[in-house]
Amino acid sequence: MVTVTDVKSFITRPGRSDLVVVKLETSEPGLYGLGCATFTQRALAVKTAVDEYLRPMMIGRNVAKIEDTWQQLMGSSYWRNGPVLNNALSGVDEALWDIKGKMAGMPVYDLVGGKCREGILILPGGGRGKTFEEVGDNIEKKLAKGMNFFRVGIHSDEPICPDSLKPVGAPAGNYINPKKSADQYVELFKYLRERFGDEPELAIDIHERFTPTEAIALCKRLELYRPYFLEDLLQPENVDWFDNVRQNTWIPMAMGELFNNPLEWKQLITGRKIDFIRVHISQIGGFTPARKLAALCEAFAVQTIWHGPGDLSPIGAAAQMHLDLVSPNCAMQEFSDYNDATKEVFPGAPESKGGYVYVNDKPGWGVDFNEEAAAKYPGQGYNNPGFMSRRPDGTAVRT
Ligand code: MG
Repeated sequence: MVTVTDVKSFITRPGRSDLVVVKLETSEPGLYGLGCATFTQRALAVKTAVDEYLRPMMIGRNVAKIEDTWQQLMGSSYWRNGPVLNNALSGVDEALWDIKGKMAGMPVYDLVGGKCREGILILPGGGRGKTFEEVGDNIEKKLAKGMNFFRVGIHSDEPICPDSLKPVGAPAGNYINPKKSADQYVELFKYLRERFGDEPELAIDIHERFTPTEAIALCKRLELYRPYFLEDLLQPENVDWFDNVRQNTWIPMAMGELFNNPLEWKQLITGRKIDFIRVHISQIGGFTPARKLAALCEAFAVQTIWHGPGDLSPIGAAAQMHLDLVSPNCAMQEFSDYNDATKEVFPGAPESKGGYVYVNDKPGWGVDFNEEAAAKYPGQGYNNPGFMSRRPDGTAVRT
């Protein structure tokens, strides 16, 4: 029996975000597993959960029993399903799958069914800019590289909410102006359809900025321009409104990057209220629960586009992609190319070519972790006080 002999956790920042990596060492010389536990906004809390709570439970445990380990660790705190503990659990869970693949001499995608596609369509960032022209120029560059799916948006330096709309004494913040934002989205779509025609697939991440009725009104105005999907149209706290959304628009809905537990996605999927699930796999506890979620989605014709921006290690990205490769209902994968430092820290990181991303065929996840290189890029913590968004009257809102 191969057992866990040590659990180590690391925080490194070779790119723009602190990444949390968990390493399980085993009784088999040279055999170890790697998992992603990245909750970049609370990296130290996750590291503490791994080091102080999960490590003592893992030492001496049989590496073969992944499901039993997942269930025990999930229930071990009694209060469960929060982002810190779920990410810590993901680090251990994904490391166990990495070990299982290495012991079998197979990539994880072969262990769990085998590829149903060779590469995974990329949902890229980068369809954004300060002006409509800049958005269009960015899309043009990516079209030339073979990409055809874009999430678009405007990030203007000009304040979208003039001071004249604010009350005296309004606090600092990222002021949003729903009326102007909605107009801007509609005008941007009109511009892009006039420039590129009907061919590129265009989506928007709404980031829960509107009230439910404002959001539905925006959908009605955008239908003319055939969006591929709208993402996070509503706050997770308001998902019951998706009934009204479905009754009022045919635009496909993508949802779920903030979800932590099955109660949040179950009704949306079984009620056929969304088209794409956008869950961040480490956020729900790793590869083990994500496999079950992908299968649930398949039964209800919901497709997966796992959440994968820069606040995810290449190990976590590979875990998502191994699942993509075996899931017939995977639509695409959010992915951005890595900088050189990230490739140095994570040898074997997934790579893109044209509009697709690929993992390698080494056993496990196929991604290693260079501890010496990681130490050159220490974590910097999370400090973003300007992130608080506010409505024109100064009310704080979550976006
Ligand atoms: Mg999003």
